[in-house]
Amino acid sequence: AKARGKNTFHFFSQDLNDAANERLQIENQLREAIRENQFLLYFQPKVDIRTEIITGYETLIRWLRPDNTLVPPVKFIPVAESTGLIVQIGEWIIWEACRFLARQQSRGYDVTLSINLSVRQFNDQDLPLIVERVLKRTGVKPRAVIFEITESMLMGDTDAAINQLNQLKRLGVSLSIDDFGTGYSSLSYLKRFPVDELKIDRSFVKDIPQDRNDMDIVAAIIAMAQKMNLRVVAEGVETAQQVEFLRNNGCFEVQGYFYSMPLAEQELSQLNYTVNT
Ligand code: C2E
Ligand code: CA
Ligand code: CA
Ligand code: CA
Repeated sequence: AKARGKNTFHFFSQDLNDAANERLQIENQLREAIRENQFLLYFQPKVDIRTEIITGYETLIRWLRPDNTLVPPVKFIPVAESTGLIVQIGEWIIWEACRFLARQQSRGYDVTLSINLSVRQFNDQDLPLIVERVLKRTGVKPRAVIFEITESMLMGDTDAAINQLNQLKRLGVSLSIDDFGTGYSSLSYLKRFPVDELKIDRSFVKDIPQDRNDMDIVAAIIAMAQKMNLRVVAEGVETAQQVEFLRNNGCFEVQGYFYSMPLAEQELSQLNYTVNT
């Protein structure tokens, strides 16, 4: 048993070493990616299922390596987060996203643009200042900008979180709770935070209509959002049955492969949906 334990430890520490090396490698590559401008933003439409009109987009970052591989965010956001590089990358995201929104608005489109915030970025004291500067310089209508935060960001230092949210709200932007239901939600905390929207996580949507439990949860979240006068958006919608279920339960704004995958800006014109004007 002892020998086996030793062996297990050996393999375990080898794995740890590999993992640590991989992180270090990614960290170095991320620094290079920042220097060499290897990031780009994709945009996934949010569609009103009653009219099939595009009401907005969520921006999702991609990393295009020099060898032309497209790295998904799950592969590098955690490293960017733990190294702090996310603050710099995150500022670039806000700039690029608002420049995109300004182009949309200048073409007469009345669309919202959702931007994901990471933990470090949200906790950064300078965030409201950065956002204020970007809004001013790009000239976008602040009310079209939605920042997505997760429940976990609100659970630590509650006063600091409320203060940060209020500072952002003062700039005129909207706030959304992303991946809603996957964190430590409680009704009381929802009341305390100045949020405008709940975004139902894909994990609750993907097994509709097979999973009764998930259907009950989604229906409850929608009902709660309505009661609290919050907008509600469902993500990860892939099938007509899911659209039908959401419609019947009063959630009309959805995002998912059923309508469109996230696309590069120049690909958006190929979509067969009208954009809100
Ligand atoms: P998220 O914010 O929950 O974003 C939704 C994810 O679901 C996206 O993955 C999107 O491509 C994917 N998705 C959308 N519709 C469907 C669908 O119908 N089916 C399936 N299977 N997936 C769908 P993506 O782009 O790989 O992003 C993953 C996560 O990485 C995001 O989850 C978000 O937490 C993070 N992320 C992405 N972009 C950014 C960013 O610019 N900043 C920050 N801080 N995080 C980001
Ligand atoms: Ca999101
Ligand atoms: Ca998220
Ligand atoms: Ca999600």
